[in-house]
Amino acid sequence: MNRKVFLQTSGCLLAGTIFGKKPEREMIFSDNFINEVRACTEYNFPVMDLHVHRSKQLTIEAIVAKSKELDMPIGVMENIASWGITNNTQLKDYIDAIKPYPVYIGLQPMSPGWSKNLSSELIEQADYIAMDPQIVENGNGYGETINLWEYSSYIDDAEAFMERNMQHYLNILTGDEPLDIFACPLFLPCCLQREYNALWTKKRLQQIIDAAKEKGVAIEINDIVRVPHEEFIIMAKRAGLKFTFGSDGRNHLVGRLDYCKYVAKKCRLTEKDFFIPRSRR
Ligand SMILES: [Zn+2]
Repeated sequence: MNRKVFLQTSGCLLAGTIFGKKPEREMIFSDNFINEVRACTEYNFPVMDLHVHRSKQLTIEAIVAKSKELDMPIGVMENIASWGITNNTQLKDYIDAIKPYPVYIGLQPMSPGWSKNLSSELIEQADYIAMDPQIVENGNGYGETINLWEYSSYIDDAEAFMERNMQHYLNILTGDEPLDIFACPLFLPCCLQREYNALWTKKRLQQIIDAAKEKGVAIEINDIVRVPHEEFIIMAKRAGLKFTFGSDGRNHLVGRLDYCKYVAKKCRLTEKDFFIPRSRR
């Protein structure tokens, strides 16, 4: 199947075979819930992995094979960052490299201001743009840039960090650059993980939801780091936000999505709650 046929048929596939049938019974939220979800072959929502990166272990051919094996639409992403795409030539090369394959083309910029040196015609060739808030400049009292995923992220004052972190979230969500998906929301650095529930106050969650709603941005449920949590998903669903699933995988983890399926089912998300990429061509 080439990319054009994929784009034309993946909507039908999702609307038909994956969530066309109603579940036979109401799900019971037991301790064994995760096993039930894993064993379940039918969901009332589209199961797609829209956050997949190519790597040495995972070529585009391997991604296409995985998509076929799992019968699951996949979206490939490339970072717009110093280690990824930094100019129009690289952006064009990336789009040209992915276009022949039956996968969605995603872009994942890492910092606000990412689009100013790139051609808008090229950006529009992507099926979606996802951005996460994981690089927080001036994130501690030492003026350091915090890469949230790094074990050595150093936070001296949790509340001061959260103030700065929220500002960073809102810069992304209220900016005027194109954005479809807010990836990896609410993830905190290692040193703050134990305080997750206290630091993510209802007021902060609502601020994020209001900003995402205003811009029409979907929320990614990230499988690897298991964010966001149930309370946030239910609040976002009530506000009418859409969701996506992302493995953030670069290897065999692509398409696994256990947490995504678990929490989506628990929060009773259905087809209408999901963002479906559109072809912009
Ligand atoms: Zn990513």
